[in-house]
Amino acid sequence: MLTTKECIELEDIYGAHNYKPLDVVLTKGSGIWVEDVEGRKYMDFLAAYSALNQGHCHPRLVKVMQEQCSRLALTSRAFRNDQLPLLAKELCELTGYEMMLPMNSGAEAVETAIKAVRKWGYQNKCIKKDKAEIIVCSGNFHGRTTTIISFSTEEQYKEGFGPLTPGFVVVTYGDIEAFEKAINNNTVAFLVEPIQGESGVVIPDEGYLKGAEMICEDNNILFVTDEIQSGLGRTGKMFVTEHEDVHPDMIIIGKALSGGMYPVSAVVSSREILGVFNPGDHGSTYGGSPIACAVAREALKVIVDERLVEKSAEVGAYLIGELRKIDSPYVDFYRGKGLWIGIVLKKDAGGARRFCEALKDKGILTKETHENVIRLAPPLVITKKEIDTAIEIIHEVLS
Ligand SMILES: *Cc1c(COP(=O)(O)O)cnc(C)c1O
Repeated sequence: MLTTKECIELEDIYGAHNYKPLDVVLTKGSGIWVEDVEGRKYMDFLAAYSALNQGHCHPRLVKVMQEQCSRLALTSRAFRNDQLPLLAKELCELTGYEMMLPMNSGAEAVETAIKAVRKWGYQNKCIKKDKAEIIVCSGNFHGRTTTIISFSTEEQYKEGFGPLTPGFVVVTYGDIEAFEKAINNNTVAFLVEPIQGESGVVIPDEGYLKGAEMICEDNNILFVTDEIQSGLGRTGKMFVTEHEDVHPDMIIIGKALSGGMYPVSAVVSSREILGVFNPGDHGSTYGGSPIACAVAREALKVIVDERLVEKSAEVGAYLIGELRKIDSPYVDFYRGKGLWIGIVLKKDAGGARRFCEALKDKGILTKETHENVIRLAPPLVITKKEIDTAIEIIHEVLS
């Protein structure tokens, strides 16, 4: 087996440098625990940006994955398979929507949402060809395709990658009046993360989502939420919008939809909206594959059977309570919902990266978001006892 140093050297030579990972080379995982090539154990407090809500290598997911890939892996959508109809039904029943469309990566599901709302707009709002507008928010993260980065407010995401896709209007996140003012006759949808993860677990004021929902309804605009990172239990509800009894017209789901086994994403919506797609309008070779669907079905069942949504609320409240007891000269404040917490550092704390390095050296893996926020998002299967172990380490590092 290669050593950590050898792995890093090889990757640096042959792999493009579009990431700057912590220098830990993992080779095994189980639940919240991962192990590096030298046998050091770590708690995973990033959970692959919430793709691992069910924990690493969940035995039920491993079993379904193995069974399905030795029976039938891929058909393409040129033919039907016996897993897609079941996932479609189960996902719709779980989320309360009428229809779903499966894709692979989160970015592809966002692209699907963009195509759907644009076509819906042209068919339902008499908008002139190529004039549809989608309102999005500052600080957004919706993925890395050329169209999606076109409406990012992060300069680095766009610099050097133009020409960009038009048709997006950016308003300040959390500012309901700014959103309302940006609406015009060409507006087809409002696309928003109900909590911004990559921006540093930024939670808008209570009432923002409800307000946005009402404004969308009044103006015949589609309300689309990107719950790729926030959904499927992360915040202590299945979806963030449930905290405010809000019902978006469309929800974009990914990451934990497969519990880390395989890239699976989807949009769920009404028959009216997803019905705009005709055969040939949109597709994906691997989207809706038997493996993807079998794994996603089991991943959803694990969330329900193991009460991961309820656990996220309970254990998350405990974690943030324990964090707030730490008297740290570096921390400005903590914010979070469920098992999703941002530790916001003071300006003079020297940045979050060095704390993530220190946490890594003591056995906790996490990742800074932007310069000064440490994000904590362990798998939802984490126990209170494991939280206690983590708190001791976090305490050492922060004080
Ligand atoms: C991760 C993420 C995406 C993109 O998903 P990929 O699978 O990386 O393409 C989109 N939106 C949000 C909110 C995300 O967290």
